[in-house]
Amino acid sequence: MDTNLPVSAHPRVVIIGCGFAGLRLAKELRHAPVQVVVIDRNNYHNFQPLLYQVATGALEADSIAYPIRKIFAGQKNFFYRMADVQRVAPERNVVHTSVGDIRYDYLVIATGSLTNFFGIESIEKNAMQIKSIPNALNLRSFIFQNFEKALLTENPEEKQALLNIVVVGGGPTGVEISGSLAEMRRHVLPKDYPELDLKQMQVILVEAGPAVLGPMSAKSQQESKRYLEELGVIVRLNTSIKRFENCRAYYSDTEYIPTENLIWAAGVNGAEVPGLPPEVVARNKRISVNRWNQVEGFQNVFAIGDVANMVTEEMPRGMPMLAPVAQQQAELLADNLQRIMRNEAPKNFEYVNKGVMAIVSRNKAVVDLPKDVHFSGILGWFTWLFVHLMTLVGFRNKVVAFVDWAFSYFSSDQALRLIIRPFSRRDVKDDQGKKKAEHQNSTPEYNPAPPAIQTPVAR
Ligand SMILES: Cc1cc2nc3c(=O)[nH]c(=O)nc-3n(C[C@H](O)[C@H](O)[C@H](O)COP(=O)(O)OP(=O)(O)OC[C@H]3O[C@@H](n4cnc5c(N)ncnc54)[C@H](O)[C@@H]3O)c2cc1C
Repeated sequence: MDTNLPVSAHPRVVIIGCGFAGLRLAKELRHAPVQVVVIDRNNYHNFQPLLYQVATGALEADSIAYPIRKIFAGQKNFFYRMADVQRVAPERNVVHTSVGDIRYDYLVIATGSLTNFFGIESIEKNAMQIKSIPNALNLRSFIFQNFEKALLTENPEEKQALLNIVVVGGGPTGVEISGSLAEMRRHVLPKDYPELDLKQMQVILVEAGPAVLGPMSAKSQQESKRYLEELGVIVRLNTSIKRFENCRAYYSDTEYIPTENLIWAAGVNGAEVPGLPPEVVARNKRISVNRWNQVEGFQNVFAIGDVANMVTEEMPRGMPMLAPVAQQQAELLADNLQRIMRNEAPKNFEYVNKGVMAIVSRNKAVVDLPKDVHFSGILGWFTWLFVHLMTLVGFRNKVVAFVDWAFSYFSSDQALRLIIRPFSRRDVKDDQGKKKAEHQNSTPEYNPAPPAIQTPVAR
């Protein structure tokens, strides 16, 4: 038991996950009379909002990740164990991990979210997702591998499928990656692939709802759609991809878009941890918590960030799954844990919305601030760059990202397009990093059978 953690006179706070929420909580507890134990399966903190830039070769993976031990160097009450949490046993105050059991006095679950494939098996098997650094690197390699393959094939439908990129989900991730791919088509690919007719390559953003950037203002929705279309992205609203097999993304029983490259950014579920009673896990797999982030029915178990389902009058569907929510919940919980230890009443969580933004391409971003303040274009773009640069963890990462962005801006180039992780769908792993057995034979072979109806995709 306890995986060689030192015995302490202070209560032990075990935090599962070192994302935005877990990292902020562990930092806020640095002077508290507690032993802080962070468990994460990765030994780095991953800055997810910039994953799409790694996927499209604009940033190095190293500049959006930071080693956990380095972040906490010098924090005396901090301990880290690299492990996968398999189960919690709240009746015994124990966490079962891949490296052994860890006892706790207070448990904080900050495990974030997982891609939601809505139970569509063909999409889960064959689509690419963008939730982790390995996902982003796989995506980058896969797309460039397919351009190499497109050079070799004589079959027009196969070539079209290799070149087409379908992005499903018109939220910020879908918009950002579509814009970035369209820019790559305009500025980067013609230099690298002069033999390919890139007019054939289509970037298609498919959204089930009536607008992109659903939760943002109407102005942001309209402007981002216009920006995307100016870049040549085909935006298909009110359309759902129902299955993806044999290099065809079907949006009805017979109609499809030919593509090898389907990026699924259509939704997430909470990354719940087994062991909690089913009644505290909501439909979206988020864990139901009260206004102190305490898990319903438990005195010493808490959940924060994406995995926490905090329903309030203003937010009847739960707090948005955003980094500032995770960070603000962590800050309050650090204070509340110390209040609880002093037998004082905890404070209720109130989300302070400082604004939301999304970038489409260079000089084009949309920003919504509280009190209906909206701006876009180059001012929005500078704001987006500044906020993301400032929130990156680590000075080195800020400098490297700044240099990479400045280089891309002045050269219209994205330098990082090496296929260093040759990728096949046989390598697909789930979000827990485990190989999925069912993927072993799932590489979709291109099926040259004549299509029933081919989607009319205009440019
Ligand atoms: C592509 C993308 C773009 C985004 N863009 C934005 C944006 O622009 N603005 C914004 O505000 N938000 C954005 N988000 C959402 C934002 O990243 C999340 O809201 C935020 O990361 C939530 O923080 P968290 O700490 O709850 O979870 P995470 O940051 O996801 O951290 C969870 C941590 O838990 C670890 N973990 C999970 N399960 C286990 C386990 N069983 N055992 C051990 N470790 C485990 C994981 O390794 C991870 O380190 C984006 C998300 C994605 C995927």
